Amino acid sequence: MSDIIQLLPDHVANQIAAGEVVQRPASVVKELLENAIDANATEIKLIIKDAGKTLVQVIDNGKGMSVTDARLSFERHATSKIKAAEDLFQLNTKGFRGEALASIAAIAHVELKTKQDDDDLGTAIVIEGSEVKSQDVFVTPTGTSVAVKHLFFNIPARRNFLKSDTVELRHITDEFHRVSLAHPNIAFAFYHNGSDLFNVPQENYRQRVVHIFGTKTNEKLVPVEEETEVLKISGFVGKPNFSKKTKSEQFFFVNQRFIKSPYLNHAIKSAFEGLLKDGYHPSYFLNLTVDPKSIDINIHPTKTEIKFDDEHTLYAILRSAVKHSLGQFNIAPVLDFEHQSSLNTPYNYKDKSAAAPAIEVDRNFNPFSNEPGHSRQKVSNNSGFTSAPKSSWESLYVGLESKSNTSQSDFSEVTFESDSKNTSIFSDSTIETKKTTFQLQQKFIVSTLKSGMLVIDQNRAHQRILYENFLRHITIKEATSQQLLFPLQLHFTPNETKIIEELKADLEHTGFVFSELTAKEIRITGVPVGVPESEVSIILEQLISDVENDVPDTNFSAADLLAKSMAKSLAIKNGQSLNSTEQEHMVNSLFACKEPNVSPTNRPTFITMAVDDIEKKFM
Ligand code: ADP
Ligand code: MG
Repeated sequence: MSDIIQLLPDHVANQIAAGEVVQRPASVVKELLENAIDANATEIKLIIKDAGKTLVQVIDNGKGMSVTDARLSFERHATSKIKAAEDLFQLNTKGFRGEALASIAAIAHVELKTKQDDDDLGTAIVIEGSEVKSQDVFVTPTGTSVAVKHLFFNIPARRNFLKSDTVELRHITDEFHRVSLAHPNIAFAFYHNGSDLFNVPQENYRQRVVHIFGTKTNEKLVPVEEETEVLKISGFVGKPNFSKKTKSEQFFFVNQRFIKSPYLNHAIKSAFEGLLKDGYHPSYFLNLTVDPKSIDINIHPTKTEIKFDDEHTLYAILRSAVKHSLGQFNIAPVLDFEHQSSLNTPYNYKDKSAAAPAIEVDRNFNPFSNEPGHSRQKVSNNSGFTSAPKSSWESLYVGLESKSNTSQSDFSEVTFESDSKNTSIFSDSTIETKKTTFQLQQKFIVSTLKSGMLVIDQNRAHQRILYENFLRHITIKEATSQQLLFPLQLHFTPNETKIIEELKADLEHTGFVFSELTAKEIRITGVPVGVPESEVSIILEQLISDVENDVPDTNFSAADLLAKSMAKSLAIKNGQSLNSTEQEHMVNSLFACKEPNVSPTNRPTFITMAVDDIEKKFM
């Protein structure tokens, strides 16, 4: 029998490839927009007629193509973006397969006009069903315009398969949203049948999200920022009460590429656990940056799925970053521009009946006794007017315990919520702190759990406790202040004073009282309860440097930063010994926090070791 295998002609191969690359007009939109971005355009126009069935055109001001490249760009596997297989693991471009233009040209009428900056004249190519109809020298601005007309003109079955204009336009709009969200530094315009649907300038990410999803979106965004060795996260999640019945506001971008990841989506959902009504979905607009080497984009022809090397780690980091942001939001509703008193109740207590305050007062505890290890009291004593030799750490709590019977608005709320039996983390293993804590290396507090062992980092734990207290006080705007006998006079540079001026209201809500705040002088007559006078200038200096290093652009982050900064300054340090009352108090207060697991800077505050694990070590 004679040979029967033959190579397919190019135009047939292209048509087959087109079946994979081009499912509908929106696929053309995606490929052309991505080419424009890869060409370093800063302005991109998308022009659509009849939902893309008649025309999809993308005009960019990018680097354009030479005469030869213009012609070559329509060949299959013709790309300027990778040269060798290794390059696949270093992708910094959207495209790399070199088949988009070839595929599109196989199933449509394409007109390409392009010019590079150095050239006086550009090139125009007309190509229909893989057949070059003309190639001319052409007067055109720098950049590229690709017009795709009569999509699927030679494949009637595919053309008939297209949905209504409304549906196809929705696909195009989705694609446009994804690409423009991933690139806020590029200006985009989008016209359909002559009317302009979107016109967004170069802007920051928040502005881009708001431009695309409407002005009302602004108030619902909660920033998420996290940077670790393997992953950088930036962007926003929507506040839980703005969650939607649809998944239309869920966006992950990995290295500026829109991706779908059910697994990472799950990480976010679990961070929202307990905050969403059934059937509602969280909104998120998150940019993940990872080493291009650690991902494989090659597994799906339309490239919305990617494979990560270490998905589990990404999951954990993402979940904790989102949780952290939501935690802050729950503590500080007013800082997000509106006050909703219902949100003052942390979500894990919301549906529980109120328990009577369980205040454990150690009658034998004497803050003035000279127990060993009160290293900080020396600092306070040396500094002038502090009347009692209290350690700053103790004084924070002495103040609150003595007041807890009379006032609801002071720190006593912490004690109230610290009834360990109500704390969800210990719901199945009641914490036993009675005489079961001890300090390790003046750094860790070790305690037993029914199920094993708990090791707390004292500095981080105390930062968490103080942070939530300060944030709460800034939020409810009523902190107790302790009057100073003699006003404190401090001097800062005009710039530094300005920073303090900006934070004045928030500082006052923590308990600071300023009698004078001018470029010449700052005079302080009251400080938050428990803050030793000697620490005041250290706190303010720390605050100024934190602000300078991380300029907050909203109230939300300013207050957050203030709380973080003060917590950092005032938290007991490693190397300080704590007596057993202090240790117990630390454990209880930590687990009364809304986010006990992490420090304000997102580091673990404690670790646990299950009995099983301990037993394994003896095998
Ligand atoms: P890929 O993007 O995978 O390389 P394409 O078929 O989409 O494959 O494009 C082929 C080549 O044509 C690109 O590698 C690029 O060099 C060139 N090209 C396509 N569109 C543009 C554009 N808008 N501006 C400049 N060059 C472009
Ligand atoms: Mg491409």
